[in-house]
Amino acid sequence: MSPSSRHWLPSLAAVTTLAFLAAGVAVKQELPPVTAASEPITPSSDVDPTGPLMLVTKDLPLPDGYVPADLVHPNVPSASPGAAPLLNAATAAAAEAMFAAARADGVAITLVSGYRSFTTQAIIREGHTSALGAEAAEAVSARPGHSEHQTGWAMDIGDGSGTCSMTACFADQPAAAWAAANAHLFGFIIRYPPGAEHITGYVYEPWHLRYVGVGPATEIAARGITLEEYLGSVAG
Ligand SMILES: [Zn+2]
Repeated sequence: MSPSSRHWLPSLAAVTTLAFLAAGVAVKQELPPVTAASEPITPSSDVDPTGPLMLVTKDLPLPDGYVPADLVHPNVPSASPGAAPLLNAATAAAAEAMFAAARADGVAITLVSGYRSFTTQAIIREGHTSALGAEAAEAVSARPGHSEHQTGWAMDIGDGSGTCSMTACFADQPAAAWAAANAHLFGFIIRYPPGAEHITGYVYEPWHLRYVGVGPATEIAARGITLEEYLGSVAG
């Protein structure tokens, strides 16, 4: 999908209307297939564009100037001094429940990163580009306006030790193993799973969790699929 095609598919009714207007005459109701297997996967047109199933990717930017309306500091251990990073209210509540459950299991999880503004993401991306070069930066960080962190629905976790922080070996740390096994119970998915870079555009990030709601998260975990594949399968 090109960047010029906007974030969400128009409704089928709108597609039909557009076809009618373009033809200038009554046209047969020939609707395009919702999702052809060979085409990019797009979300259902009735997915709330700012809700827990919102899709933000390298091809699907956020609306210009998007800032979540309900950012709060969750009451969870933070990786940095001071209040924990911001999340939107639903994600914050889910994070509080998840971190507490992990702690009850003897597993420490800290919140490393939550909401990031467009400007903050631009600074981070510039840092990656300077350190790694443009091509490598593309695989590990989002361009500003394309980060899930700007939605308030995403967070990066750590374990407070700094071991393997934000690197692939974090997957073997207790916090990541616990999250991989249990995050769906609280509505979170491992958004960029291993072996899915061709779908998500990102290398494996065992620390990046995305809130989608318990039902979708449970199905995504059970089927071992990505959010893109889940939205493609429910589109229509
Ligand atoms: Zn992240």
